[in-house]
Amino acid sequence: MRAVIRHVDHSIGLDPHADRDMEDLACTTFECGWKVSGQDFGELQDAAMKHSGEKQHFGFRQVTTNYWRVVRHDQDVAEQLRVSPSPGVVTR
Ligand SMILES: [Zn+2]
Repeated sequence: MRAVIRHVDHSIGLDPHADRDMEDLACTTFECGWKVSGQDFGELQDAAMKHSGEKQHFGFRQVTTNYWRVVRHDQDVAEQLRVSPSPGVVTR
């Protein structure tokens, strides 16, 4: 059996169909479980400050989520970017 291998250039970029810079802030105090999510980081910071004042919890973990898409250069890149986003991706 003979295999034919062909090199194809690929590139990666932010998925144009997905929300960007989705922020999560979570309290790091043991077993607290408090968490807030959104795109307005100022609002999330205000919510964390309020939680801190109410519970006397002072540590938080920030996670920023973005979705990326790989395209092949041997096919129409614009057509590849027109496809609907991957399952589970939040769209706008
Ligand atoms: Zn907490």
